Amino acid sequence: MEPVYMDNNATTRVDLEVVDVMLPYFSEQFGNPSSIHSFGDKVGRAVKQARKQVQQLIGAERDSEIIFTSCGTESDSTAILSALKTLPERKEIITTVVEHPAILTLCEHLEKEGYKVHYLEVDKKGRLDLDAYQSLLSDQVAIVSVMWANNETGVLFPVEKMAEMAHAAGVLFHTDAVQAVGKLPINLKDSKIDMLSLSGHKLHAPKGIGVLYLRRGVRYRPLLRGGHQERGRRAGTENSASIVALGKAAEQALAHMEYENTFVAAMRDRLEAGILDAVPNCFVNGDPGSRLPNTSNIAFEFIEGEAILMLLNKQGIAASSGSACTSGSLEPSHVMRAMDIPYTAAHGSIRFSLSRYNTMDEIERVIEAVPPIVAQLRKLSPYWGEDGPVDEPEKAFAPTYA
Ligand code: PLP
Repeated sequence: MEPVYMDNNATTRVDLEVVDVMLPYFSEQFGNPSSIHSFGDKVGRAVKQARKQVQQLIGAERDSEIIFTSCGTESDSTAILSALKTLPERKEIITTVVEHPAILTLCEHLEKEGYKVHYLEVDKKGRLDLDAYQSLLSDQVAIVSVMWANNETGVLFPVEKMAEMAHAAGVLFHTDAVQAVGKLPINLKDSKIDMLSLSGHKLHAPKGIGVLYLRRGVRYRPLLRGGHQERGRRAGTENSASIVALGKAAEQALAHMEYENTFVAAMRDRLEAGILDAVPNCFVNGDPGSRLPNTSNIAFEFIEGEAILMLLNKQGIAASSGSACTSGSLEPSHVMRAMDIPYTAAHGSIRFSLSRYNTMDEIERVIEAVPPIVAQLRKLSPYWGEDGPVDEPEKAFAPTYA
């Protein structure tokens, strides 16, 4: 049987048309886009077209606001470090407890360097408290960095509103939109967002290509200094094949946007309903009213997520627990802990993340595969008795985190 891939928030398959358009840039179109001869010129024009394609996908006002980088992580670091360098008198940052490690690990490092980082908490559904946010905005804050969509739960944050609030307080606003771009319509022209990060491999382009959107007029310091590529804002010879690929993937994402928000969402909803119907003691993590169309994070109480994944994998079904970057650790993810999901459920939380390549047949296959796997694992679980959870399962074993 064909394998079923439902781990698209970790990475996506490169679209075959995208592969086709990028291949010539490894062979006949190998010129350096900065060269003035015809070899360079052709590639330079292709890079320009890709910049416009990305501009259109995110609704930026100008193509010059698009800076190509190597990945989402580089874009995130560049945004935050640029703000700190351009505003040296401001020593505070506002972010959230549920950001990706691309932001959190940098913030921990900056704390060691003397910056004060405010981490906004989330409620049980993964939502932010905007009053708490408002109370932290001040002229001491150099930048706010808040993700558009959470990679584990798909929960959306109201970043456009939060950017307005930041601007009203004279504070720069960055969003890590790595999971949102390509899945949601985005129109930066009409927003107050100053900087945005995106990553090619989450939208059917290759790994190793990203973008930092930098609103015109926002003061900026590059992370990489050297040649004049990207108007001196990101030195290093352009990864032209991947840039062209990202341009094509952006064009396709725009063309498939409606499908993503209708059919992919319908597949996700069917998957959730089918599983919740057939399996006792399971629930959806995150705010179902405000989520990415492709993501479902389901907590299966009293069993281990890693065990579910292994048994699914045996049947050719790929999903994930937590983010790819934290798997390998036995602790529940920081996102589940922040949402205060009981440890007996956080440990058994699985993320299914779909794409336009999934089919309803695959959804039905997963709906059939999951219930017997859960039943099999519950037979081995110390928290599960003959016909349901043991009394006071919280006390059956000590929690592994406080
Ligand atoms: N931010 C978010 C929300 C992500 O999900 C990821 C990747 O999983 C990243 C940043 C990092 O992107 P990249 O892998 O391109 O560095």
